[in-house]
Amino acid sequence: MTAEDANQNETPEARLAAIRGRIASAAMEAGRAPEDVVLVAVSKTFDAEQIRPLLEAGHRVFGENRVQEAAGKWPELREQYPDVELHLIGPLQTNKLEDALELFDVFHTLDRPKLAEALVKARSKGRKLPRLFVQVNTGEEPQKAGLAPGDVDAFLARCRREWQLEIEGLMCIPPLGEEPALHFALLEKVARRNGLSGLSMGMSGDFEIAIKLGASHVRIGSALFGSRA
Ligand SMILES: *Cc1c(COP(=O)(O)O)cnc(C)c1O
Repeated sequence: MTAEDANQNETPEARLAAIRGRIASAAMEAGRAPEDVVLVAVSKTFDAEQIRPLLEAGHRVFGENRVQEAAGKWPELREQYPDVELHLIGPLQTNKLEDALELFDVFHTLDRPKLAEALVKARSKGRKLPRLFVQVNTGEEPQKAGLAPGDVDAFLARCRREWQLEIEGLMCIPPLGEEPALHFALLEKVARRNGLSGLSMGMSGDFEIAIKLGASHVRIGSALFGSRA
């Protein structure tokens, strides 16, 4: 367990309140309104019974990184909490797109033309599309998904002109062991020059820095749920 992980002795409600407090402080220090930062509670690897206390405490925005895993727990939770907003934060294979459209309200991981074209095709069949963030591989790591920063402007232009896909913002996952602030600042710069206000950046260990650099959505797992197996 690391310092960023949740204190297992605390209740989930107490951890949620503590994280909300830290988000509000970071926002106010940056001269921003706390409600301008959305907390995406990342519930991957945790089961419905571990998620329920946060729902009961009133939280509604959750993130999952695998379509299959989300399909196993969220349809039932949603019956009870129909106003849940579910965010896909992991890579998406086009053969899972149908299932993903069924489950998720927001995709943070639009990262290639093939997926954009699959979305367009789904829309032409009458599918309602989710809100979309484009993932940027700010560290240009070969094993990581996302567009290279130098390819983002052209991709966003295609989204607008060729595909008529409305993009809400950009998302990044900084490389492990690097100063995240540099990656957050780069993402903010690319978003600003493209007229995008959404910035999905910041996780348990670095969300306060991300908020200072303009995050609109922070994706927090272990600080809320505890360390993952
Ligand atoms: C798991 C995950 C998170 C949450 O990470 P924590 O360090 O547990 O807060 C955020 N974003 C993505 C894309 C993830 O896969």
